[in-house]
Amino acid sequence: MKRRDFIKQSLSASAVLVGGGYASFDMLRQNNLAIPIPVEHRASQAAAKVLNAANPTSDEGIMIQTLTEQIVHPPVHAQSRPALAYEQHKTDQLQADVTIAQAETAPIIEQPIEEIVLTKEQASNKNVEIAKPEGSAKTVQEKITNFETNFNDDVILTEANYKLLVDTLERINRVQDYVGFGNFNVISFDDALKYAKYSPRIGAFTESELQFLDFMFDYDSSQLGFLGEKVISKQTNVIPDKEVVKMPGTGHYVFRGHPEEFYKKIRGEVGDSLILTSGVRNVVKQYQLFMAKTVQASGNLSRASRSLAPPGHSYHAIGDFDVGQVGGGLQNFTAAFASTDEFKRLQDLGYVQIRYTANNKLGVRYEPWHIRVV
Ligand SMILES: [Zn+2]
Repeated sequence: MKRRDFIKQSLSASAVLVGGGYASFDMLRQNNLAIPIPVEHRASQAAAKVLNAANPTSDEGIMIQTLTEQIVHPPVHAQSRPALAYEQHKTDQLQADVTIAQAETAPIIEQPIEEIVLTKEQASNKNVEIAKPEGSAKTVQEKITNFETNFNDDVILTEANYKLLVDTLERINRVQDYVGFGNFNVISFDDALKYAKYSPRIGAFTESELQFLDFMFDYDSSQLGFLGEKVISKQTNVIPDKEVVKMPGTGHYVFRGHPEEFYKKIRGEVGDSLILTSGVRNVVKQYQLFMAKTVQASGNLSRASRSLAPPGHSYHAIGDFDVGQVGGGLQNFTAAFASTDEFKRLQDLGYVQIRYTANNKLGVRYEPWHIRVV
């Protein structure tokens, strides 16, 4: 049986348990959302190949903004050292002829400030109190205005699935430690599986974790209340190296061509105090952010989706990027960014093409920092 068919069958079986008959996902909502754990063994073909052509390239992952006092929590894995990761990779390699990327002079990497910041404790705590619905909303507008509220019809993970989410997120974070912050933005799902399988420091993804990731990717996000388009149809989406270019000093990439030119143009006109705060994000990176947001939202997937596009739904995978004020920290990812001189300048120049406006119909909060490119 194909794995996907198996998922469907298992979901139906779960639904039967829940509802005493055929049931849709609607019946699995709120505190009853159940994700089946497969019993059949799944050979990971992607992971069966020996890592050979995929030596991680050098990644300086330079800090883009000075940590300010606004930052209450230090970024997770702030001390990640890719150069050591490559050494470890060398040790881990299963084929003698794998050549290793030139070792760096081991700089201490500081991770740029991102939209979602979790402490190490938050990222690994499996015993949180799962979100409880606390109110209803009649309109999409009401929900996006109060985007951090737990609404009655929100989809919320069960405790068991929350634990699985945390396990999976921890492993994904170890992949990021291993490949470096910049590379992690663009690596494919299959590459992440390979790195995990062949590095004991990461450890292979378990069947349950893979099942969970499949579930998240295939889930109909409109059920969460997220009405944006699915722009990436395949979990295994590959972003070729030659299509992206790293913006020095940011740890982030933009696509070559129009996005690169557009970024350089607006920065040229607004000034150096405007900086790329998030660029190209492939599926694995979007998983990481969405799952971290779900942790912040105590397992409430709908609440997470009001702040962050679910995997496959982010325009960061095809051209959009975020900008902020140098030194702006986490405020760059709040409505406060709209009050900065940088934003006003962007607006005056007519460059503001906001993807998620204050009254969007897509179920997403206002994001003045997110620049629509495609
Ligand atoms: Zn964005």
